[in-house]
Amino acid sequence: MTIWFEPQLRQVLQQRGQLPHAMLIKGPQGIGKRDFGQSLAAALLCENPGPSGLACGHCGACGWLASGNHPDFRALVPASESDQEAETDEGAKKPKASPWITIEQVRELHDFIHVSTHRGGSKIILICPAETLNVNAANALLKNLEEPPARTHFILISHRPHRLPPTIVSRCRQLSLGQPDPRMALGWLKARGVAEPEVALAHYSGAPLRALAASEAGELQERRDFLALLSDPHFDPLHAAEVLRELPLERFIGWLQKWTCDIASRRMLGDIRYNPDMSAALDALARRADPREVLRLHRRLVREQRHIHHPLNARLYIESVLIAYASVVNPARKAA
Ligand SMILES: [Zn+2]
Repeated sequence: MTIWFEPQLRQVLQQRGQLPHAMLIKGPQGIGKRDFGQSLAAALLCENPGPSGLACGHCGACGWLASGNHPDFRALVPASESDQEAETDEGAKKPKASPWITIEQVRELHDFIHVSTHRGGSKIILICPAETLNVNAANALLKNLEEPPARTHFILISHRPHRLPPTIVSRCRQLSLGQPDPRMALGWLKARGVAEPEVALAHYSGAPLRALAASEAGELQERRDFLALLSDPHFDPLHAAEVLRELPLERFIGWLQKWTCDIASRRMLGDIRYNPDMSAALDALARRADPREVLRLHRRLVREQRHIHHPLNARLYIESVLIAYASVVNPARKAA
């Protein structure tokens, strides 16, 4: 498990006998909440836990769980997450897997919950990410939470708990997890071969699992090319839009939002939050840009980030944002 949450896990396990039927583990994305939930499940299912309460890792139950076959454990995840590895015959195209946890998945829990445990201990249901329960699935789950069977624990994991129905949240004991200690996170990333772990960790707001995934997907190098383009003193928005035509819109807005945050923050506070490897370029931009205009663009991006899933025309949108960016970072040229 991700070692940095061990103290919090031990604390939860101290109340082993009085654990609630439902727990909601919330916190930023990519910090290891799901690992925490898995480790909690392992500890509750372990037949020979140590004095700390953590799973022993050697008993029959630990073995079953590690191999994904524990009969008293279920994980509910959207099909789009569990299906990634599955291959179809001759590479036939499958219909796109659902990004939601469906009512059928919750209904399948019925027998699991109401039949006595296989190994005589607790039963655990891990739901991750809980905000992907669709409306019907959430309603079906609520019935289970309202009349919880004995020795059954629901562990809900969420980085967007505000999207969960309040009726569900109110049935759960909540536990908030935050970013891990940066030294621990850096050591963890280094051990996994991430180049420039400091940059990766800063860019992904201290969330090590997210930084690792981005590094493995080559996103950090892509980000650097993107920022080099934006730092060009002769920045041309239409040329840039052409270069960036393949970039997913979500990444475009996310990167530019962090970049404008850094320009404003460098100018007003002297700090760089997300892109510490780009200090020279940020200094140059911070000197010539109007900080109020930078902040205005930054706020626009934060606002629009929430509604970018179905843009009418991504290319036109990117062009309009880059034209705004050009006039903000080169105010003199705009006036000329
Ligand atoms: Zn064990």
